[in-house]
Amino acid sequence: MEIKYYLTFVMFVFGLIFGSFFNVVGWRIPKGLSLVRPGSFCPKCKHQLKWYELIPLFSYLIQGGKCRKCGAKIAPFYFIIELTTGILFALSYWLFGFSFEFALAILASSFFVIVIVSDTNYLVIPDEVTLFFSIVVLLLRFICNGVKDALLFFGYGLGAFIVMYLLMLLGNALFKKESLGGGDIKLMFFIGCAVGPWSSLFSIFLSSFIALPLSLVLYFKSKDSVIPYGPFLLLAALIIILFRLDLSFLLKFCA
Ligand SMILES: [Zn+2]
Repeated sequence: MEIKYYLTFVMFVFGLIFGSFFNVVGWRIPKGLSLVRPGSFCPKCKHQLKWYELIPLFSYLIQGGKCRKCGAKIAPFYFIIELTTGILFALSYWLFGFSFEFALAILASSFFVIVIVSDTNYLVIPDEVTLFFSIVVLLLRFICNGVKDALLFFGYGLGAFIVMYLLMLLGNALFKKESLGGGDIKLMFFIGCAVGPWSSLFSIFLSSFIALPLSLVLYFKSKDSVIPYGPFLLLAALIIILFRLDLSFLLKFCA
């Protein structure tokens, strides 16, 4: 039992480190910047951050959320992203141990966090990130469950992509304006590969359910605010993975 607590904590720390890296990925990939050069710097005074200013959570807390050189406020966003990744990694291990589900949950959590960063800041989900996670999920299926499973879920990915594309056409016709971004449609390919057909459909339903109250609040605050939908889709898929919401019973029920 103690080993489980210990490994959950280790996964939390791994999550913090990865979360710190996902911040960099989400900010830089949409702009076509390198992930390694230059190192992180203060956006205000361009002061290059030293290693002790880059420790997840701690640097932010010790420096009181400010740049050590110029005192400019650091957005709590970075801190929240690190903490979220830490919690999701720890939860994935706590729920599944080291297993196929654990790997799936880690991949979906990682993708979710990167999409929060890129989609809320630029309204963009970079294609290369979606492609990367889709390929890794299919590789995981190939390694753990064999080639048949990988090919099957590749097909589910295509199916989910097509369904979302049709939903976009329908939405555009109904609202006479662009309803879904291309990034959201490609995202469904990943979700199909990760969770299969019924759970993909359910993730579309669940994500609108989660996003609706928030969009109403934002709509009344400012009529022309744009809410990125990608994070909600991935959050829904993640909830389905973490809580094993399996809708395949629908299939049996209909048959
Ligand atoms: Zn500074």
